[in-house]
Amino acid sequence: MVNEVEKRGLTVYVCELCGSTYGDLETAECCERYCYSHGHSSRDITQRTVKPFVRFIRVEPRRREPAPKRSEPR
Ligand SMILES: [Zn+2]
Repeated sequence: MVNEVEKRGLTVYVCELCGSTYGDLETAECCERYCYSHGHSSRDITQRTVKPFVRFIRVEPRRREPAPKRSEPR
């Protein structure tokens, strides 16, 4: 069964067999039918995938606070 996933107002359809995501239900169902009957996904179909979840997220390196120098009086 095709999974419908909504993320940030964008609905995508996921082929349960190969995990490809599509912008429309028809293509996703088409993919799933192909996957089901062939045991693998169709390159013609999977090239229509959308990858809304793949994003380049820039992760700011966490700045290390310099350890405060403690002057402990003896
Ligand atoms: Zn598929």
